[in-house]
Amino acid sequence: MAIGMGLHGEPGLSEGPLCDAEGLATLLVDRLLAERPQEVAAEEQRVVVLLNGLGGFKYEELFVLFQAISERLKQAGIAITDCECGELVTSLDMAGVSLSLFWLDEELEPFWSAPADSPAYRRVSIVPPLADAPGEAQATAVRTQAIPEPAAPSGSGDLTEPQRAVLARFAAVEAELSQRVEELGALDAVAGDGDHGLGMLRGSQGANAAVRSALARGCSTGEALMAAGEAWSDHGGGTSGALWGGGLLAAGQALAQAPGQDDPQQVLTAVSAALQAVRDLGQAAVGDKTLLDALEPFQTRLQGDLQAGLGLEEALRNAANTALAGAQATAQLLPKLGRARPHGERSLGHPDPGAMSLAYCLIAAIQATTSSDALQAER
Ligand code: ADP
Ligand code: MG
Repeated sequence: MAIGMGLHGEPGLSEGPLCDAEGLATLLVDRLLAERPQEVAAEEQRVVVLLNGLGGFKYEELFVLFQAISERLKQAGIAITDCECGELVTSLDMAGVSLSLFWLDEELEPFWSAPADSPAYRRVSIVPPLADAPGEAQATAVRTQAIPEPAAPSGSGDLTEPQRAVLARFAAVEAELSQRVEELGALDAVAGDGDHGLGMLRGSQGANAAVRSALARGCSTGEALMAAGEAWSDHGGGTSGALWGGGLLAAGQALAQAPGQDDPQQVLTAVSAALQAVRDLGQAAVGDKTLLDALEPFQTRLQGDLQAGLGLEEALRNAANTALAGAQATAQLLPKLGRARPHGERSLGHPDPGAMSLAYCLIAAIQATTSSDALQAER
């Protein structure tokens, strides 16, 4: 049997002889326990177990395996709070399984137990949820914060200069990514799953449409960026979709909370907030071979050049070139995070796809023209 194969057919980590349920449970559980969170004392750790059949694995066998997995977890002193055991994400008729352990804490537990209704996953609550149950309240708070309420409607003719710039820059990013779909997909296929080009294009299309619609409804620049972030998360795929979405949302929130700054300061505020969000969400550091290797040098150079008194456009151009150099330099690194990590050595000599796409987007956005003729032509 192959161990560590990807759902999209990525090659496995290794191959070994078939084993019985106890052997398989030990192999899967011990591998995950090696990465269990260190913050919580071992005896207080609680998990949700997701044992997923890939389509060709019999339910009876799945249940026998689950039994062995739960024994193994008990031996390790870990409490199983809840479980899902069935065909949740299949991969054609692959005769295999995947095991996920979801580590609960006080914040995550109410979200896990909250009712859910999606095409792929449904969870009902037998007891009607209280209106002020923590999960509900938090979910509402996140949504209210995330979806900007449109201000008074206005025609796009009354857009401010920063708003026109945002429109032009998102259009340029989408156009750039549509040229780079295959290049980025091929880079991601070296050690990942090959979806990066398409995921980025879809994210940018969603974000571009959201920005246009938000500005036409009279939203501020910050609110338009927040809408772009929501749309990028919804439309863009994979890890990078979530990170771009989170970064744009944070940039928009920071702008909405800091009105009245001058243009250069606004741009720096937005970029710094996006960087912080990407760091918080992805927990990556510079040198891990991720998009942070382009984003962090971009922010540092921008801040430095603005402090040194350079004009915004020149500082942005320098920062984008620094981001591209940072992205290209990732070719020498081994990925420490993300889908590419297990096949890291294959990626030596190739730059990180997420870092490259970020640099391409920054360069395209910064070169975008804000002249009204060009905007008109875009529409
Ligand atoms: P997926 O890996 O889910 O298929 P993509 O292919 O769209 O997602 O994006 C892969 C890129 O995401 C990587 O090249 C890397 O730049 C970035 N990435 C992955 N994990 C992280 C992380 N933890 N923090 C920051 N960036 C990350
Ligand atoms: Mg990918």
